Formats: sequence, C-alpha cells, structure tokens
Amino acid sequence: MLDAIRALLILQDRDRRLLAIAKDLEKIPQEEARAKSKLAGDEAAVKKAHDELMEAGLRVKKAELDAQTRRTTITRLKMQQFETRKNDEFQAIKHEITRYEAELDAFETKELEAMEEVDQFRIKFNQAEAALAITKGLVNEDLARISERKARDEAERKELVEERTKLAAGISDQILPLYERLMRSKDGLALAPLNEGKCGGCHMKLIASTVINVQSEQQITRCEDCGRILYVEG
Ligand SMILES: [Zn+2]
Repeated sequence: MLDAIRALLILQDRDRRLLAIAKDLEKIPQEEARAKSKLAGDEAAVKKAHDELMEAGLRVKKAELDAQTRRTTITRLKMQQFETRKNDEFQAIKHEITRYEAELDAFETKELEAMEEVDQFRIKFNQAEAALAITKGLVNEDLARISERKARDEAERKELVEERTKLAAGISDQILPLYERLMRSKDGLALAPLNEGKCGGCHMKLIASTVINVQSEQQITRCEDCGRILYVEG
C-alpha cells in the first residue's frame, strides 16, 4: 500500500470519528429536552390534585360559615321566643327556628361531605407527588447519563483533534486539500476501497485502466465517477 494512502486512511478514520462525535453532540440538547418533557404529565397531575384539594377545602369553609350563621340566627330567635308574651308570635318564631335548624342540618351534612372529599383529594395529591418524585429521579438519571456522554464526547474530540492535526501535518500539500475537499463533498468518505472492479464509495464499475492503476499501487488514483481516492484493501 502506498504510504500516502496508509496515512490518509488513518486520517480519514480520525475524521470519521470526529464527524460521529459532532453528530452525537448535536443530538444532546434534543435528548435533554425530551427527558425533561417526561415531567410535564406528572407535574400537571400534581397541579390538578392540588387545585381539587384547595377547592374541597373552600367548600368545607363555606359550609362551616353557612352553618355558623344559622346557629347565630337560631340563638337570636330562641332569645326572642323566650322574651315574647304573644302566643302567635311564639308560634311564628318556633316555625322559623325549625326552618333554620333544617338548614343548619343540611349545611353540617355538606361540611362533613366536603371534609371527606378533602381526605380523598389529599390522598390523591400525595400519590401524585410521589409519582412525580419517582419520575424526577428517573429524569435526573437520564440527564446525568446524557451529561456524562457529552463530557466523554468532548474529551474524545479534544484528543482526536490533537491527533488529527499531527497526522494532517504529515500529509503532502498536493494531496491534503484534495482529501479535505472530498471529505466535505463526499459525505465524510474521501477514500474508497476497490471492490471487485467497482468503487467502494459510489459502487460504479471502474474502467479497466483505473483498476490496473489502483492495483499497481504506484500513484494516487481516483474513481472516474465520484472522484474518491481508491485503494486496495488489506
Ligand atoms: Zn466512486
């Protein structure tokens, strides 16, 4: 194998690893966003449970307040009833008291029902919070894994860039620009192996003289179709 080809293959290997790292790093912000988005459902469930709990709490307070005003009214009416001397007025007040006592009874029932709801919603809220905590743990694990991968990628990239700079310095000025142009234009593959008379890059059948040139390993030979630098494997 030509020394120049051997050197270019090593360079291409490092460049392809750098491309793969760049591609991986590009995906990371999206993966982080996707991991975080897993929290949205559980956070909404916690908010809903919290709102329901607060509303039930307000219903307890309102029923308690309504009951309390009836109790005050009943106390006042009983006082009036006690003070009156007129029988018809006494009967009227008695009738009023009965009506208010029925209302009081209804509000007390309502208050008890709302208190039971508070208990139910508190259980639901606690469950939703527990579920969120579990999801948060998983999401944090995901984020930690992603961040470790990012750090690994960056460290590897740094090493590869240093190595690549040294390798590129050892390649002739006549070949390096061609190689770099091909890397950019040919999807990160500047060199292609000769494969049963075909170019391993574009898979087109090569003309006989090209095949002979590649096999003789005397000079840089390019695929007449895609322009990639050809080499004999092994
Ligand atoms: Zn080709």
